[in-house]
Amino acid sequence: MMPEKSAIASAVRTAHADHAGDTGGANASYIPYLASVDPSLFGVCVATADGDVFEAGDAGFEFALESISKVCSMALAMEHTGLPEFHDKVGADPTGEPFNSVIALALHGGKPLSPLVNAGAMSTVSLIPAASADERWQKILAMQSAFAGRDIRLSDAVNDSEQSTNFHNRAIAWLLYSSGSMYSDPMEACEVYTRQCSTLVTTRDLAVMGATVAARGRNPVTGKQVFDPSLVPPILAEMTMEGLYTSSGDWAYRVGLPGKSGVGGGVLAIMPGTLAIAAFSPPLDPAGNSVRAQKAVASVAAALKLNIYNATDFAQ
Ligand code: GLU
Repeated sequence: MMPEKSAIASAVRTAHADHAGDTGGANASYIPYLASVDPSLFGVCVATADGDVFEAGDAGFEFALESISKVCSMALAMEHTGLPEFHDKVGADPTGEPFNSVIALALHGGKPLSPLVNAGAMSTVSLIPAASADERWQKILAMQSAFAGRDIRLSDAVNDSEQSTNFHNRAIAWLLYSSGSMYSDPMEACEVYTRQCSTLVTTRDLAVMGATVAARGRNPVTGKQVFDPSLVPPILAEMTMEGLYTSSGDWAYRVGLPGKSGVGGGVLAIMPGTLAIAAFSPPLDPAGNSVRAQKAVASVAAALKLNIYNATDFAQ
């Protein structure tokens, strides 16, 4: 059941007002561009499965999508391989290690375990059928745009910053290749993966992207079917297991909604069939999740009594 519009609008306003003054956390510093973004920026937005949008604060500011891009590429690869093959090749378990962990790979015979860590995300990119890096990239960009309902663009500034510093990810790509978990040229997969992280979205885009998952793969603003509805449960399962890095279990316990964050400061959570909650603020906690955005999303979810483990609560 959809919460009242007035209740959603009020929850978004309150989440922004209650956390606008919060400090804590630090911008990601290992990507030079991200370190330079104004840490005081803070946006909150809800998009519903009916296509209504409610926003507060800096919800129109464009920031780097980063790891949240992994959700779009996962849908693209799943559509191509089918679910059993995707599950077999990439996996659906938390690694228990940081998102760019080499140890996690070493511990599991070179298998990435999840499409939502860097290793699994590069493996995922390599599964998308393409004859060239550009074709692979155009498919991913088109998918991000369909999720958001507008033309998403690459930021050359973010991309240059990432491509010139992504030595760690290149090492992971070669490790995947050596263990048989890379299905294209490894440097092509790494390069295209890095581009997919370097696109710009607003908090509003992020909410509409989430609402596309909430609405069974149909973008509720454009009305376009972006991916097959059968992908929604596995996408949400992957997000539950690894969406907030090493805090994914804590997030499930405290908030109870499948989520995904990125080191650009975005956090997205999805109540299937109902709505998506997005927030953005650059300073991160040690796990890589935006401090303020986590609080804002949790606040909206609690105010609207949205929790997949207590799904009838708001209907009382
Ligand atoms: N482009 C970043 C990286 O590969 C994304 C990391 C993230 O947001 O988790 O390190």
